[in-house]
Amino acid sequence: MSRIFNFSAGPATLPEPVLAQVRDELLDFHGEGMGVMEMSHRDKPFMAVAAEAEADLRALMNIPENYKVLFLQGGATGQFSFIPQNLLAGKTRADYVLTGDWGKKAAKAAKAFCSVNIAATSEEQKFTRIPERAGWKLNPDAAYVHITPNETIHGVEFLETPDVGDVPLVGDFSSTILSRPVDVSKYGLIYAGAQKNIGPAGLTIVIVRDDLIGKTTPELPAIFNYAEQAANDSMLNTPPTFAWYMAGLVFKYLLANGGLERMAEINQRKAAKLYAYIDGEAFYSNPVDPACRSWMNLPFTLADAALDGAFLQGAKAAGLSGLKGHRAVGGMRASIYNAMPEAGVDALIDYMKQFAKTNG
Ligand SMILES: *Cc1c(COP(=O)(O)O)cnc(C)c1O
Repeated sequence: MSRIFNFSAGPATLPEPVLAQVRDELLDFHGEGMGVMEMSHRDKPFMAVAAEAEADLRALMNIPENYKVLFLQGGATGQFSFIPQNLLAGKTRADYVLTGDWGKKAAKAAKAFCSVNIAATSEEQKFTRIPERAGWKLNPDAAYVHITPNETIHGVEFLETPDVGDVPLVGDFSSTILSRPVDVSKYGLIYAGAQKNIGPAGLTIVIVRDDLIGKTTPELPAIFNYAEQAANDSMLNTPPTFAWYMAGLVFKYLLANGGLERMAEINQRKAAKLYAYIDGEAFYSNPVDPACRSWMNLPFTLADAALDGAFLQGAKAAGLSGLKGHRAVGGMRASIYNAMPEAGVDALIDYMKQFAKTNG
């Protein structure tokens, strides 16, 4: 077996010790004579897996007791529609701050349910910065303010949580959850698809303050209703059991390795290294304002886009995959989530140096 460095934006690389444990337990989980995939979600062993995963995530993120943690399906994209349906609670407006394509998609989906106010957007700057907080046109009557703490495609990240007053702040953390500590109490709702920094695809985590839920209209199907899901431990129907189990193993792995403070240290160092190289080498560039550069997703372009194909081909041969940039911005993108070892970043920089030398 030989594993390469996988820079895919998601589904993405997972911690090798977790994968090895999954392999070891695949056919026989803890002497049950069957794997987790084959087990009823109502059976004791899985109930324990599920409860432990929640407890570990609570410990890892320091989630206050008045927040529910839900293990759902439908991806972050599903949440784009479920959030307004759950949080409007009789209100008719919601504020969205756009710093990239994902926030734009979230705002578009919400329009089916409420009047969406784009409180600020950096679209004119091609989403290379975060609009100054002072200029946000927030509506005091909004049911919530939605931000995308890390824009996966544009590589733009909020390095600090913005203060939006008493209106609940909602964050799409899909590509930054668990990469650093977050003060959960500053948010009304945090959500994330699992396939970037948590585990396999198919699981969506929602962390929501309990006073915000249970005020939906009767038409909302129970399966999309946070209060119903919370009352049923996210098991209103069959949950994505295997993804839930693997997410639990990732939580344990992070807890055993210094938690989110330690992850933040490593992630900051990994990102700083790669940005420093890109900024110091004329052949490559990253257009994002240094005040909001993502620690997780680093888009960059080559001096000559005609060389993109050769760059990717050479990277593949060097054991570096998943570097093709999103079609919306072109060029390259290195996604360096928690599970990307620092050695992977070093290998990428070595390859980039060599490529610039022969082609620059
Ligand atoms: C990947 C991603 C999404 C989409 O997630 P799905 O689970 O595929 O719906 C939404 N928002 C952000 C910030 C993402 O990175």
